[in-house]
Amino acid sequence: MAHKKTAVIGDPIDHSLSPKIHNHWIESKKIDVAPYEKINVKKENFIRDVNRLIEEGYNGLNVTIPLKEDAYKYCDNTSDIARTLKAVNTLIINKDGVYGDNTDPVGFEKSIANRGLNNKLCLVLGAGGSARAVVYALTHMKCEIGIYNRTREKAELLCSDLGVEATILTETTLREFVGSSQLVVNTTSLGQQEDQENNLIEFDSLNSSAHVYDLIYNPSKTTFLRHAEKKGCTVQNGLEMLIHQAAQSFNLWHDTMPEIDEDLMSVLGVS
Ligand code: NAP
Repeated sequence: MAHKKTAVIGDPIDHSLSPKIHNHWIESKKIDVAPYEKINVKKENFIRDVNRLIEEGYNGLNVTIPLKEDAYKYCDNTSDIARTLKAVNTLIINKDGVYGDNTDPVGFEKSIANRGLNNKLCLVLGAGGSARAVVYALTHMKCEIGIYNRTREKAELLCSDLGVEATILTETTLREFVGSSQLVVNTTSLGQQEDQENNLIEFDSLNSSAHVYDLIYNPSKTTFLRHAEKKGCTVQNGLEMLIHQAAQSFNLWHDTMPEIDEDLMSVLGVS
């Protein structure tokens, strides 16, 4: 039988850490499958390229920026989470067709599971694809949520699509909300460039007991996290979310949950 083939698709894709993570698990679990690859797929070529990959025998694909909505539309069937988010980050291809799931919400929730943040007041900055996953997870954690986005209409659409009651903040109401938030999550792409400032909040207003989370993991410490750390907050980047969503995808494809341990962290260069 042909070896199972898996990969991540997106554009850009060169920076992706997913191959390091998945190939470490494939090797450490001694699973007899082809190495996990990264493949550049441009949005305008999505259908053509994914059709080709399926013909070439790929059984599992992770999907990243900017293709998650295209992947959702492409599927024959999806999970409830993918239908709610209208976005897919994991494709499972078998004789019954293409099934889409989204492991980002579980990935986010697992990444903060030990921080005692259930039922707390949380601020989400941004209303793009990843904000949807974060708001879904925080709702599951019974948090009270405030959302601030440059384009207010997108925050409104997020809430109506997810059926979530969150406070949609303005620049004026944001300041007070920052001060009472126990968790502040940046889901915008501001900070992806080294030293790019993210000035969406006034850091002086932060509560020093808050946990401040930036979904960006490269750079590993954005200016957003550096400012929060100066205020005495605990901080976290997006690496754990990336690892946990990868573990969920791995389990969907290979039917075995991989270890998240020191060996993996050393492969990723994190001590
Ligand atoms: P997206 O759907 O394109 O959304 C981008 C968000 O950033 C929107 O809310 C957008 O606001 C906001 N934004 C962009 N430029 C801005 C600016 N100059 N000023 C203010 N707001 C700005 O992207 P995404 O999929 O949510 O991804 C966002 C970030 O999260 C990326 O850096 C990505 O790498 C990271 N991410 C990490 C993980 C992980 O596992 N750690 C998973 C997914 C994503 P508007 O609506 O006003 O345009």
